[in-house]
Amino acid sequence: PDGRTLSVQVVSYGDGQRLVLSRDVTRFERMERTRREFVANVSHEMRTPLTVITGFLETLRDGGADAEETRHYLSLMTDQARRMERLVADLLTLSALESSPPPPMEEPIDMGALVERMGAEARALSAGRHKVEVEHAEGIELLGSEKEITSALGNLVSNAIRYTPQGGTVRLRWLAEPDGAAFYVEDTGIGISPEHIPRLTERFYRVDRGRSRETGGTGLGLAIVKHALGRHGATLDIHSTPGQGSRFTARFAGPRVRQ
Ligand code: ADP
Repeated sequence: PDGRTLSVQVVSYGDGQRLVLSRDVTRFERMERTRREFVANVSHEMRTPLTVITGFLETLRDGGADAEETRHYLSLMTDQARRMERLVADLLTLSALESSPPPPMEEPIDMGALVERMGAEARALSAGRHKVEVEHAEGIELLGSEKEITSALGNLVSNAIRYTPQGGTVRLRWLAEPDGAAFYVEDTGIGISPEHIPRLTERFYRVDRGRSRETGGTGLGLAIVKHALGRHGATLDIHSTPGQGSRFTARFAGPRVRQ
């Protein structure tokens, strides 16, 4: 009645007695459904660029394009191949995050330097279209994997740029908090309606599929962020107002932060 699935097995004995075994398989069913959806999504995401590439290859093979058209088709095919490359890279990152033990606590990350690098990356991605502001507290170190933290925060930064129209502002801040530290990524971009927020970290969940594709998104960025942060005992908070902008906060607490 509450939407749970039970597996029931009845064993009958010769003397008329019966043994009823019942098992709650709700969790197993849910996992199976998630796995099936994931495989369907990956297949769909791969098939779309492949269809485009195959179509153009057939046109070129049949000799139906002049030199200028040929160049144009080759450039479109390269975009699609790059898209598949990004998808595979993100899938591998996600699978590595899911299948390895949490990173050791010995390696201190120089967060000041990392945040400055993020700022430089944001400026490069923006190519002068946004104002990029960076601020960081001195001397707060994080214990964990620099590679994973760079990948998580880099995804937040590239989203902020990609979902903020020209002329907007993207602000990155690494600040001390009462029981740790936090990395804030704020933008004055398109924002997100409240009903989408709880689902954003699901793999392949996008508010606007077309816009995500156009800007080179795979739909896996926030899933990677959630996993990488979770492995460092950190949480992700999302606040947003449609049409005004968003704030993504990665909060690190406890033994992984050293000041
Ligand atoms: P994608 O590759 O599509 O950007 P993500 O997992 O990084 O995938 O993000 C999921 C969705 O969340 C995006 O498709 C977009 O709709 C929304 N989103 C993420 N970051 C922002 C942001 N800074 N502003 C507005 N929407 C965002």
